[in-house]
Amino acid sequence: MGATHKGMLMVVSGPSGTGKGTLCDMLLKNDPNMRFSVSVTTRQARDYEREGVHYYFVSDAEYDEMLEKDLLLEHATVHGHRYGTPRKPVEALLDQGFDVLLDIDPQGARMVIEHCPEAVSVFILPPSWKTLRERLYTRNTEDSAEIEKRLRNARGEVETLNCYDYAVVNEEGEEGKRRAYEAIRTIVEAERHATTRYFPVIE
Ligand code: 5GP
Repeated sequence: MGATHKGMLMVVSGPSGTGKGTLCDMLLKNDPNMRFSVSVTTRQARDYEREGVHYYFVSDAEYDEMLEKDLLLEHATVHGHRYGTPRKPVEALLDQGFDVLLDIDPQGARMVIEHCPEAVSVFILPPSWKTLRERLYTRNTEDSAEIEKRLRNARGEVETLNCYDYAVVNEEGEEGKRRAYEAIRTIVEAERHATTRYFPVIE
């Protein structure tokens, strides 16, 4: 029996500090058919970040031009910086049969959910507000005013949960992370068998 597959657009989103980036990295590392959508951003590169791998780092003028030419599938201003998903590479990868992973904030995720009904969306939740606060403070990348702002935003973002297809709680510790990863893997496996993109051919 043969089969044909169409690529799947997968959106992983959730509040800042839920660990969605780590879960996405695990998925990409272990799944050769899953490709990462490299976003554009107007923020400065961090030391370890490489152009075209983590992001495309662009000027405000370049970003404005992309917006104007409708080159972004979705876009949002997140914590004072602008981010967007270039449309063309996503479409090219999907056409080649790859699944494409978008690790984006909840504003951008809503845009994709509205405009691409075939996308599979997953919302990552923290096990508790207390844990989210601890994670943001332990990460030590923002000051306390910024952290408190992110926590307030997180409450609003969680209220949009029912727009997503799936919700996964990223529980504490290595074991919690492993379980969250397994849940996402199960979602990917199930969605790859959806008849909207999987066509088994009986000979
Ligand atoms: P960071 O600057 O720490 O890499 O990312 C900050 C936030 O922006 C994260 O929540 C990340 O998921 C989100 N983000 C990264 N790329 C995009 C994008 O292309 N679009 C949107 N809407 N959010 C993005």
